[in-house]
Amino acid sequence: MKDNVLIDTYAQIKDGQQGQLRSKVRSSVLDVLSLKHHFFGDEEKLKKPRVQFLYFHHIFKDELENFEILLEYLSKDHVFISHSEAVDRLLTDRVDKPYIAWSSDDGIQNNMLAAKALNKFGASCCFYVNPASIGLTDVEKIKHFCKEKLEMPPVAFLSWKEVELLQSQGHEIGNHTFKHDMVSQLTQDQFEEDFLKADTILTQKCGPIKHFAYTYGRFENFTKPAFEFVMDSGYESCISASRGCHINGQGMLDKNKVFLRRDQIIADWKLSHIKHFLIKGVQELDYNTNFLPKSLA
Ligand SMILES: [Zn+2]
Repeated sequence: MKDNVLIDTYAQIKDGQQGQLRSKVRSSVLDVLSLKHHFFGDEEKLKKPRVQFLYFHHIFKDELENFEILLEYLSKDHVFISHSEAVDRLLTDRVDKPYIAWSSDDGIQNNMLAAKALNKFGASCCFYVNPASIGLTDVEKIKHFCKEKLEMPPVAFLSWKEVELLQSQGHEIGNHTFKHDMVSQLTQDQFEEDFLKADTILTQKCGPIKHFAYTYGRFENFTKPAFEFVMDSGYESCISASRGCHINGQGMLDKNKVFLRRDQIIADWKLSHIKHFLIKGVQELDYNTNFLPKSLA
């Protein structure tokens, strides 16, 4: 494979990004909000018991140091638990500490670097992958998949051997659809076919799959019939990429009614900005966040 056409640093992603002014404005706003949290001592709020799902797409080599700093910081006040344990604790009303469960979407090869860092902190991660991109080595196919499905420059994907390795290190593998289509743009039949294709391949390679993360992650990118199909297929959880964290306190929850939220992390972001998103999640903690949003119901 001609590695040189594939992106292997986050700096290359940033160089190619549009809207530099917009990102500067965003960064300044986050600076102000972070300062406010600092002034009011809001960081103490992170000691609140909850389940917070954090996810990333990539940890490029120039993001690794920051990622480890973040893990070090989070490990002080949080307990890292696996995706399965987080789901189980929420469903069985055992959210007695501040818990963080890591996941990652899209199966980008540098997830191996991420795993190395997570392993140092004893943190398990659920890697949501698309069987259509795992093991891709043809550069033209990689370019096409990255542009059309992930809207990013071409990057290397995990091989099946690496997926196996992640599992052997104690990480989990989840279903992220077969070829990363937007679920809301498919018919229900097309979705079911794609979902089952991914499930069959992943089950063959990795054993039973219990968790599903739909693509693109906003509520409008998904549908209620698709959610019902996932849960009827015997899955334990379905997760979005909409910000928010979880608390229970009202007894057992029916897994078929629970709809999970996640906070995206880009390791390159300033730590104070990541703290802002975490604190915001705690400030907005609400039992109703556990369920299917009205826009989907
Ligand atoms: Zn994705």
